[in-house]
Amino acid sequence: MLSTDSHRLIIGLTGGIGSGKTAASDYFADQGITIVDADIVAREVVEPGEPAWLAIKARYGADVIQEDQSLNRAWLRQKVFAEPDERKWLEGQTHPRIRDRLIQQLRDATSPYAILVSPLLFESGQSALVKRTLAIDVPVDTQVKRACSRDTNNEEQIRRIIAAQISREDRCSRADDVADNSGTLAQLHAQLEKLHHTYLTMATSTARKQ
Ligand code: ATP
Repeated sequence: MLSTDSHRLIIGLTGGIGSGKTAASDYFADQGITIVDADIVAREVVEPGEPAWLAIKARYGADVIQEDQSLNRAWLRQKVFAEPDERKWLEGQTHPRIRDRLIQQLRDATSPYAILVSPLLFESGQSALVKRTLAIDVPVDTQVKRACSRDTNNEEQIRRIIAAQISREDRCSRADDVADNSGTLAQLHAQLEKLHHTYLTMATSTARKQ
């Protein structure tokens, strides 16, 4: 594990698209737990004027910049999909900066333990930043149904995204803890409440060992 803050327990929370990561992190946030979101940080590092934005603009020029100066993500996705070397270059610009910022935000956490929410916790290697992992698990059909009813993605797009992520079985076997979100939100919260108390106890013993 990489050291983010030797005194604080960091839990990595993951799950496939539409599995309920936000529903789960909202619960922990309501208990006063600091939440650091890898998706938000990934967007922050490419905001206009940021070093990664400047590097991307210098490499691809006007094609990649929209009128409001934000990146044309659809263009960029297409580019790196077609050219693996470009993907490598882009990840070289963004990944270290995302990691640094995640570490900083986790260090700034004020709660007894902190949570890093990352849809690609295992795939991205961000699991190295955390001490323990929690997967939110639902059957694929529920994932598709919930993700479709929440946003404008159609079923085919959702299934394509699911296919590109690690399998449900793989994610659950790698995680230390698994919460089943196939039932109601109240049923999810009951499982998270138990985990919250476990994490508080672990956080106390982690702090005592320092
Ligand atoms: P994404 O990876 O796409 O950001 P997510 O893993 O954060 O998704 P949520 O946004 O928490 O998932 O949940 C997906 C949708 O399913 C939301 O509309 C949410 O309100 C709904 N949802 C989550 N859990 C439940 C549940 N137990 N019962 C019914 N609806 C749920």
